[in-house]
Amino acid sequence: MLKPNYHITILEKSTKLLSKVKVSGGGRCNVTNHCLDNNELIKNYPRGYKELNQVFSKFNVQHTSDWFKKQGIVLKTEADDRMFPDTNSSQTIIDCFMNLSKKLNISIQINSEVLSIEANKDKFNIITNLKNYSANAIICALGGHNKTKAYNIIKQLGHNIIEPIPSLFTFNLPNESIKNNLQGISVKNAQIKIVQNKLQYNGPVLITHWGLSGPAVLKLSAFAATDFYKQNYFSDILVNWVYPLKPIDVELFIKQFQKTKHKALPYSQSMFDLPKRLWEFLCIKSDILNTKPWAEINNKQINKLVQCLCNYLLKMEGKTTFKEEFVSCGGVSLKEINFKTMESKLVPNLFFCGEVLNIDGITGGFNFQSAWSTAWICAESIN
Ligand SMILES: Cc1cc2nc3c(=O)[nH]c(=O)nc-3n(C[C@H](O)[C@H](O)[C@H](O)COP(=O)(O)OP(=O)(O)OC[C@H]3O[C@@H](n4cnc5c(N)ncnc54)[C@H](O)[C@@H]3O)c2cc1C
Repeated sequence: MLKPNYHITILEKSTKLLSKVKVSGGGRCNVTNHCLDNNELIKNYPRGYKELNQVFSKFNVQHTSDWFKKQGIVLKTEADDRMFPDTNSSQTIIDCFMNLSKKLNISIQINSEVLSIEANKDKFNIITNLKNYSANAIICALGGHNKTKAYNIIKQLGHNIIEPIPSLFTFNLPNESIKNNLQGISVKNAQIKIVQNKLQYNGPVLITHWGLSGPAVLKLSAFAATDFYKQNYFSDILVNWVYPLKPIDVELFIKQFQKTKHKALPYSQSMFDLPKRLWEFLCIKSDILNTKPWAEINNKQINKLVQCLCNYLLKMEGKTTFKEEFVSCGGVSLKEINFKTMESKLVPNLFFCGEVLNIDGITGGFNFQSAWSTAWICAESIN
């Protein structure tokens, strides 16, 4: 509950609050992820994981779920651990915050863009496009931006901004035949590796009409965001379609299969649970046609097939924004924040929460979780 003499004003530059919540999770709002172990939870944040350890010790997934329950909202968990309101509508979350704001007499000023903030002795002077405000404390929740300019008001207060660069994107493969022949195909557990630095992730991979997508690709894009940026999004990528199998296991398996099914044609049965079209494509790439039975496939062809299955080389040339959950990495330098309180170490009574900080998570509800947690600490610290 708020202290009775508190007066809170939300300054929002657009015409409505919570517009990202509205479109989030395909209109269902992926509020958080059913990851109840904080040590596991922090692994989903390429930037900010150390600091979030402290944050989640105060407000984590369980607290989020309990908090929403107290407001009458039940969160349900889907098979992949993403959590949504049981109404399947992001409007439920918006209504919750809007009703609470009304109940707590919070003043909401839309079309009010904060242009600058002056920190005076005991007060802040906040200049917006419409009028000026004065405040004893400020919670800065500007969100993430892809241009450094958007952070100018924070820079003017003395804070350093880590240059924003994209995170969570899919890979463009304009010159790879795989995307022409196999779009729409997904593999349950493939490993994606950047050749240049050997960073790798595994999980579901989807072949699209422009290249590669799916959780493993998005995870790699987030954890290697800086590396991809430095390479201007031109990278050599290796895919192991049969992960966790290694080339030696795959070779043994195929040779055994060849012995027992020597009369069968190679395309008659796809191996390793691979989608049939992908299996045929990889066979063709290995010069294995469906005209000769397994008995007549030579070692050179099998070696090629093993390479195609375990180390398929793709040339990434550019990226495509993952529109479901656009997130940028970069923002306010974490060194300048006290994570016990979310207060600036440079300007007393200035607090930060959400994506404005140099914290970002992978897709799956982790970005909202860090926003809820840091916001909760801000509110506790001020109250
Ligand atoms: C399409 C999409 C889908 C997403 N889906 C999910 C999801 O399902 N799950 C998940 O965990 N994450 C999701 N995300 C990420 C998530 O939305 C963000 O991480 C989260 O909204 C960050 O919250 P925030 O309050 O820090 O910033 P924001 O939600 O961006 O809010 C910042 C607010 O500040 C306002 N503002 C900015 N500058 C000024 C200024 N100078 N003066 C006044 N107002 C200003 C903005 O207009 C905005 O309303 C999604 C993102 C997108 C774009």
